[in-house]
Amino acid sequence: MSAEIIDGKALACSMRKEIAEEIKKLSLQPGLAVVMVGDDPSSAIYVRNKEKACEEVGIKSYTYKLPENTPQSEVEDLVKKLVNDAGINGILVQLPLPKHLDVEKILSLIPPEKDVDGFSAQNVGKMFLGEQSLYACTPHGIIKLIKYAGVDIAGKHAVVVGRSNIVGKPVAALLLAENATVTICHSKTQNLKEITSQADILVVAIGKPHFITADMIKEGATVIDVGTNRVDGKLLGDVDFENAKEVAGNITPVPGGVGPMTITMLMYNTLTACKRANG
Ligand code: NDP
Repeated sequence: MSAEIIDGKALACSMRKEIAEEIKKLSLQPGLAVVMVGDDPSSAIYVRNKEKACEEVGIKSYTYKLPENTPQSEVEDLVKKLVNDAGINGILVQLPLPKHLDVEKILSLIPPEKDVDGFSAQNVGKMFLGEQSLYACTPHGIIKLIKYAGVDIAGKHAVVVGRSNIVGKPVAALLLAENATVTICHSKTQNLKEITSQADILVVAIGKPHFITADMIKEGATVIDVGTNRVDGKLLGDVDFENAKEVAGNITPVPGGVGPMTITMLMYNTLTACKRANG
């Protein structure tokens, strides 16, 4: 039997409606500042999509586009100004930054309560300790998708393929916090197929088109494909979707699965940061 498709667009849409409703009830408007340096075309598209999402839910967006050759001190001054602005609840520095800039130093200026990307060492540390923090958007969106599919995570064997700081490691931590038994795989993992075939929940974030084939998936498993690979103008996931859906129980498509959740969780984090900042 063919798998149920986990519709990330539908979940993102209903979450954005809920966020918009909640913002309407607030006495103030949350603010999100996006800092972009240079004119990387992909970054420009991401920034525009963030602005659109803000408009949709009622978050005030402030976009700062600085020229490619902006010196370090100017970027730092802008971020510091945003940190001290009470109307800004979230600050996001669009990556990649031009090579002459010290990315770590710039990101370290953003305090954890305004780090809506959830990438800072403080927020990651708090997440691992199970303390209140802002979770990284894509991993948090993945947990929401698994729950939306009606899957009870507790006690399940979750296998995460990929161990990046932005997806693999944090999603493994969140799955553990949900009481899954978690295995993390990476490029040095031996017998990958043997491990993925035991997964009740399989999260794949490696960046290799159609790398995970149907024979690597347990029958009835929940498969979350994070990969976004552009091949001949088409967007492909890390999972061979067409064949995998004949084995899996639930599966996310690419596009339309994890992708729409990432920006939605950014809106969620901005609202959360605003509520926390204002008691
Ligand atoms: P990275 O390149 O940072 O990490 C890739 C990970 O995959 C590494 O841990 C690497 O292992 C592992 N890996 C590579 N090859 C293999 C292999 N043959 N077997 C097992 N593991 C392997 O990627 P990201 O985590 O940043 O992104 C992964 C994918 O997710 C990309 O396609 C990216 O575009 C997409 N993505 C999508 C998002 C969305 O919103 N939909 C958001 C973020 C990412 P090792 O550590 O040993 O090198």
